[in-house]
Amino acid sequence: MKIICIGRNYAEHISELNNERPTDPIIFLKPETAVLLKKQPFFIPDFSSDVHYEVEVLIKINKVGKYIQEKFAHKYYQEIGLGIDFTARDLQQSLKEKGLPWEKAKGFDGSAVLGEKWIDKNSIDDLNNINFSLDKNGEVVQKGNTASMLWKPDEIISYISRFFTLKIGDIIFTGTPEGVGKVSVNDSLTGFMEETKMFSINVK
Ligand code: ZN
Repeated sequence: MKIICIGRNYAEHISELNNERPTDPIIFLKPETAVLLKKQPFFIPDFSSDVHYEVEVLIKINKVGKYIQEKFAHKYYQEIGLGIDFTARDLQQSLKEKGLPWEKAKGFDGSAVLGEKWIDKNSIDDLNNINFSLDKNGEVVQKGNTASMLWKPDEIISYISRFFTLKIGDIIFTGTPEGVGKVSVNDSLTGFMEETKMFSINVK
């Protein structure tokens, strides 16, 4: 199982980090060991003093595919979910400045939260109009709608599969909207897709 993440897929989040708008999707990977184990808290790693939450819509791949055409991409997933792409922003910033890969800042243990709930895409009226949000200690800190994605799920799947064969169980993180911020010990983070609670985790 692998985790493929899309960076800079929401215009407002690109501006808040002063990044350039990409011409192609930005892709990075997290290893399987990045998945935060079920019912476990997220422990802030000792190598960062600025870990950010990034709430993101997830796509679970259910069919092997390579060079998938956009028009067939919908056949490669049935369920979508919600998760957090934890990012050691200070470390990522220094790696970016040196032109180095981000893996240490993005792929560390526990950095991929996969919500326990998955929603059948057939039960959703319009995949390109889903509201989702993240609460920190009971207050909304991030709010997004999939309509604001620069690249839609089918385009993302098609693009990724030009480089990486997609396999059953692979998870795609589709990028975060604006509002990313720092987590502190004892924070609690809860993710929602429309009215449905998708996950809840504690920070230690
Ligand atoms: Zn992200």
